[in-house]
Amino acid sequence: MSDDCIFCRIARGEIPSRKIYEDDLVFAFHDINPIAPVHFLVIPKVHVASMAELEDEHEAALGRAMVVAGKIAREQGATDGFRTIVNTGRVGRQEVYHLHIHVLGGPEILPAML
Ligand code: 5GP
Repeated sequence: MSDDCIFCRIARGEIPSRKIYEDDLVFAFHDINPIAPVHFLVIPKVHVASMAELEDEHEAALGRAMVVAGKIAREQGATDGFRTIVNTGRVGRQEVYHLHIHVLGGPEILPAML
C-alpha cells in the first residue's frame, strides 16, 4: 500500500467511505460522485497505479475484483446488467492513480458509449 494514495487510505479506513465489501484482496465502496443510480468502485488492496502497470503477481487480486464486482452489482440491484469501466492513464482520463473498476447500473438502460 502507498502512504499518500487516496484509495489506499480508503482501503485502510483512514479516509471514510461508504464501504460495500472487503476481503483480504479487494475493497469495494460507493463512488463519492455517482453518475448512475448504482455506481461503486472495486479496488485491489495492493497498490497498482493503473491497468498499464499490472504484472502477473496481480492476477489473483484482479480476478477477485471482477468476481466481487459482479456479485455486488446484483446485490445492489443491477439485476439486468451493468457497465464496468477501467480508466487508464492520461488518454483514458484516469483521475485517481490506484487501479479501480467502476461499476455503473440502475433501472434504466445506460447511454450508448460505443
Ligand atoms: P477515474 O480515476 O476513473 O477517472 O475516477 C475516479 C473516481 O473516484 C471518480 O468517479 C471519483 O468520483 C471517485 N473518487 C475520487 N475521490 C474519491 C473519494 O475520496 N471517495 C470516493 N468514494 N470516491 C472518490
